[in-house]
Amino acid sequence: MTVVDEVAPNVFRASGTDVNVVILRDGGDLTLIDGGYPGDVGAVEGAIRSLGRGPEDVQGMLLTHAHIDHMGAIVAFHERYGIPVFTDPTEVAHARRDYLEQATGKDFVPMLYKHGVLPWLLRVARAGATRSLSVDDAQAFAASGPLDLPGTPVPVATHGHTSGHSAYHVSHHGVVITGDALVTAHPLSKVRGPQLLPKVFDHGKQDTVAALDHLAVLDAETIVPGHGPAMSMPIAEAVEQARERSR
Ligand SMILES: [Zn+2]
Repeated sequence: MTVVDEVAPNVFRASGTDVNVVILRDGGDLTLIDGGYPGDVGAVEGAIRSLGRGPEDVQGMLLTHAHIDHMGAIVAFHERYGIPVFTDPTEVAHARRDYLEQATGKDFVPMLYKHGVLPWLLRVARAGATRSLSVDDAQAFAASGPLDLPGTPVPVATHGHTSGHSAYHVSHHGVVITGDALVTAHPLSKVRGPQLLPKVFDHGKQDTVAALDHLAVLDAETIVPGHGPAMSMPIAEAVEQARERSR
């Protein structure tokens, strides 16, 4: 049974393999934000079904960014049900895999002696981390401001972790879905609480730090990150903590 937390009214967090998936609900219609690893498709479908809905009720899918641990169910549902995929205009080419801004196996070799790295690598490999996936017809957001999708999420450009990373603000409930622009835990991190991912995961560390400015100004007290538990904390305070830890 997939565990689904309702972190705010009609905003749900579900777990894939060490990664989060978010579902926004409006009546019977859903928006899926990120989709876990390829091996998490069943878990994501289970999360949707636990709400009494099916993938065909998903009106649109949003990517925070096109890393493999966020694209799994997005690719599967896009191919099976034709659900449209939207992402930041800059991230569209990454979703198509015109280029890849993602750490690969060799990047982790120098870290293998560190506690927890090998078990994590094996776990995510089983979940499909080494597969190559793409969304060839991902669409750029049509305009700035609230998207015409269930839950009316507002994209927040947070370029850095990847060149076109986007967070999403569900302003009427004070929720921010931060993706990998700010996380609250990771199997390769020793600390818990608001933080950036270990450097190996970021395409551009400096830009990732700078992008925190775009999160800090949001009116949000519920944080749903790409990795780690959801937190109740003003986003400006979380950004401050993440900044401190990145120094
Ligand atoms: Zn990522």
